[in-house]
Amino acid sequence: MFNTSTSGSENSYDAILVGAGIMSSTLAVLLHELDTDLRLLIVERLSSPGLESSNAKNNAGTGHAANCELNYTPIQENGDLITNKAFEINKSFEQSLEFWASLAEKGKLTPKTFLNKLPHISLVFGEKDISLLKKRFSELSSHAAFSNMEFTIDHEELKDWIPLIMYGRNNSEKMGATRIQRGTDIDFGNLTRSYIKQIEGAKSIEINYSTNVQNLQQDSEGDWYVSLEGEKNRIVRSKFVFLGAGGGALSLLQKSGIPEGLSYAGFPVSGKWLICEEEKLAQTHNAKVYGKAAVGAPPMSVPHLDTRWINGKKSLLFGPFAGFSSNFLKYGSKMDLFRSIKTTNVFSMLQAGLDNIDLGKYLFNQLIQTNEDRKKTLKRFLPLVSPNDWKLSIAGQRVQIIKQTSQGGVLKMGTEVVTSSDGSLAALLGASPGASTAVTIMIEVLNRCWQERMKSSEWQNKMLELFPSIMTDINSNQEALLAIRKRNDFLLQLV
Ligand SMILES: Cc1cc2nc3c(=O)[nH]c(=O)nc-3n(C[C@H](O)[C@H](O)[C@H](O)COP(=O)(O)OP(=O)(O)OC[C@H]3O[C@@H](n4cnc5c(N)ncnc54)[C@H](O)[C@@H]3O)c2cc1C
Repeated sequence: MFNTSTSGSENSYDAILVGAGIMSSTLAVLLHELDTDLRLLIVERLSSPGLESSNAKNNAGTGHAANCELNYTPIQENGDLITNKAFEINKSFEQSLEFWASLAEKGKLTPKTFLNKLPHISLVFGEKDISLLKKRFSELSSHAAFSNMEFTIDHEELKDWIPLIMYGRNNSEKMGATRIQRGTDIDFGNLTRSYIKQIEGAKSIEINYSTNVQNLQQDSEGDWYVSLEGEKNRIVRSKFVFLGAGGGALSLLQKSGIPEGLSYAGFPVSGKWLICEEEKLAQTHNAKVYGKAAVGAPPMSVPHLDTRWINGKKSLLFGPFAGFSSNFLKYGSKMDLFRSIKTTNVFSMLQAGLDNIDLGKYLFNQLIQTNEDRKKTLKRFLPLVSPNDWKLSIAGQRVQIIKQTSQGGVLKMGTEVVTSSDGSLAALLGASPGASTAVTIMIEVLNRCWQERMKSSEWQNKMLELFPSIMTDINSNQEALLAIRKRNDFLLQLV
């Protein structure tokens, strides 16, 4: 494919991480914490880190802990609530907090630059949805993880929780809400940059910006050769490659030729927000308020009204409004989707398309929405607020996974780590719950691809230092859960 003989020892690394978003930067910090001598190369096609999906304005900045996202507790046809995903996500987010707390304790992260405490609220309208919300409340709040959840249908209490949303509303309107005060808003762009800042001065770390990973190929010894195109074109070599390229990961996975990646395909969903920077309004709302998704809508299109802190400035965000663009990256190419279609995945794509007609209809309707239509949706949340205070902003691209299963091609809404059988390559596909669970996902990458080192007492001790609760199932041990939350809140100034 390409001439690997040009790769000398100066081009040889212990790990090559593609992309400088939240995923690769999390993995880079973890690896550096575990062994400062590991030679790491991070390659980013843009001019600085965290500019794609991880950038604050390209995502909603919710620290997803399943506090308020109704799609994490779906209802079965028999009316039962499925709660295991909510517990899994809650635990995983606690692991992120634990990691940031340990780095803050070492003086390597400043929590205030990316993390703010913010109530997480679920809000529904009408008797039917109120009774579903109440069911969710009773099931979740009986467990330690969600025991601090509150429920109300009282307008006076709602005026206290969400004054801006209640302003000008008829008292007879049936509304129900739950609240968890220990929620967060996160500037994942700033977090990515803080991670990079922590490691960029180290002798063992090299970061190449404005450099595109063009191709990669494994030789018979198991080494990966990666061709880079940038200021200086070169071929670099490593025993381990991580494809943390966001929407760009699928095409690189396909180029790697590993059999585990051949049947995957991607379906891009673009997003738009309405953003309000009016200081008076921003000061009147202090929560992330998640509603219920429309029929046929992908779960990540749940409408929500969020307080955001971006670079220390408070603003409001409403959305997302989904759309369709064939780009796999916000700063990508319209050809991305078409180039990803291969003989190995075309049938999965067709089947997933046929099985998701509702999604297609939903996206089409979103696509033809005008600004006026969007502002009407906003009015459902904020009856008396002037839509003119809100500006449309383009969010990041999400590339949903289409996976070949025994039932054929299936569209998946989550994230998935794909690894080669020899553990020399890992790729991260998909987008949700995304950045909030990056730490857990990267520990999974280490467990799969750095097995021997992860089993060594040296790395186990370092993991225990970074994650004091790693050996405990905090979902079944209430005392341990409360102890770790107390530690994390203190170190992250969330008290
Ligand atoms: C609309 C929207 C809302 C979201 N809301 C939330 C939320 O509220 N909470 C949450 O936790 N998550 C949220 N997410 C998900 C979250 O943003 C992503 O999961 C996360 O940012 C992905 O990080 P990443 O590092 O994989 O990708 P990215 O941040 O996209 O980084 C990938 C990097 O790889 C680079 N790259 C790509 N191809 C190449 C190449 N060939 N060579 C070199 N570099 C390359 C890109 O330039 C980019 O910088 C949201 C996402 C979207 C789109």
